[in-house]
Amino acid sequence: MKILFVVSEVEPLAKTGGLADVAAALPKALAALGHDVRIALPLYRQLDRAAASLAPTPIRLPVRLGTQTLEGRVWSGHLPGSQVTVYAIEQEALYDRDGLYGLHGRDHPDNLERFSFFSQAALCLLPQLSWRPEVVHCHDWQAALAAAHLKFGASSREPWCAGIPAVLTIHNLSYQGVFPKSRWAATQLPDAAFSLNGLEFYDQINCLKGGIVSAARLTTVSPTYAREIQTPQFGWGLEGLLRARAKALTGILNGIDVDEWNPATDRHLAATYTAQRLAGKAACKQAVQQRLHLAPRNDLLIGMVQRLVDQKGIDIVLGAMEELMALPVQLAVLGTGEPAYHRALEQLAKRHPDRVSVTLAFDHPLAHQIEAGADAFLMASKFEPCGLNQMYSMRYGTVPIVKRVGGLADTVADLDDPSDAPTGFVFEEHAPQALLAVARRALALFRDRAAWTRLIKRGMRQDFSWRRSAQAYVRVYQQARAPRAGHRRVTRRR
Ligand code: ADP
Repeated sequence: MKILFVVSEVEPLAKTGGLADVAAALPKALAALGHDVRIALPLYRQLDRAAASLAPTPIRLPVRLGTQTLEGRVWSGHLPGSQVTVYAIEQEALYDRDGLYGLHGRDHPDNLERFSFFSQAALCLLPQLSWRPEVVHCHDWQAALAAAHLKFGASSREPWCAGIPAVLTIHNLSYQGVFPKSRWAATQLPDAAFSLNGLEFYDQINCLKGGIVSAARLTTVSPTYAREIQTPQFGWGLEGLLRARAKALTGILNGIDVDEWNPATDRHLAATYTAQRLAGKAACKQAVQQRLHLAPRNDLLIGMVQRLVDQKGIDIVLGAMEELMALPVQLAVLGTGEPAYHRALEQLAKRHPDRVSVTLAFDHPLAHQIEAGADAFLMASKFEPCGLNQMYSMRYGTVPIVKRVGGLADTVADLDDPSDAPTGFVFEEHAPQALLAVARRALALFRDRAAWTRLIKRGMRQDFSWRRSAQAYVRVYQQARAPRAGHRRVTRRR
């Protein structure tokens, strides 16, 4: 099958979060199954051109944005370590700046124009390549306008695009790309698409909604999240629409890149290890304690690597902190995000310098070192579409402590869970006391070396590779094409 990915970040070229991991690993897994997958993404200033061996092509993409026409230039290369083709779309005025989506916690003010241009350019590219994909797979609001253009826009009439079904994957429903209707011209869609059955949302433009109403099939990144987003608590106002499209919606758990995240070969670690030979893990703990200036004690070292935003539940971590510090626990936090959380965490580290380490940076090697060196890994998210770190943790023999929500609920089984083989600790309530209680349970097991090691090893045996998920996506692509095939047959008979 020929599949075009339209996606705003791809690891290791440009990344802010889990979307980038998926946008790299899923195409690779699909290519391994024999499919022709190509990726379009913006050529950001910070995009690692060398990593993708990007070279300029003669392709020029004139794209209308309201009253002006901007020209995109196309660079082509490959995802590192694969044959997956990457097309990076260059447009200096839109992408040659710091920050993928914004800077210092503020969105770029022209994000509608930036991602409208991107979505249209990705489709304009197809005739230039003389390549007609069978499915256009759009990811999140930044690419949702590509689905809308295939349904409502000029692309629906363009011979190389007409009739191609879109699949939209919602990686995080809380980011919808909502803009004032006064900027409608920038979408380059017909006025009729600003309606209840189109992009209109409380008299504003909602790009994600445009994708949800336009795509032939919808997916999200875990079965639990697929159910949750149909409820008011997790639906961010789109729960009704998602309920209406429930038959087209599938939850497919993300896999992880098991080569990138492999404690047996990880080049970022002080020592490598396997489930059979765990000695290296102790060396990793010592090394990370040393690097982060934590006391060289055998306290329960809890790692946290995440965006420091409200979603991730840092409020209850901060709320539980003083009582947590009364226990033999250390905390290693790596993340960037909202300035208020930066300040609160820094103060905490100042109060407990040898117990709490806070690194406010995006640091890939350190993320690996914390995954390997920590005993446990905490994810206290208010909502979590899938979450990747809990899976990395299990693979690294680091016990996940997670809220029972979204993909966390689908991937971690609690120690006391009677039905599943336990792999970690799960708590229910979004409250500091619930976090403290689960930390105490973890600590009690940590003192029982043999039981703790059994839990570690069970986690390390889990299979989170992409193969199975990639096969599930292929089924969705086939379903997306099916109604169209039926339609064509009817037309021919007439
Ligand atoms: P989300 O997509 O909501 O950010 P996920 O758990 O799905 O959450 O994915 C987060 C990804 O980003 C993981 O690969 C994680 O290791 C990585 N990550 C997040 N913050 C940092 C950071 N400060 N430094 C390095 N990696 C980070």
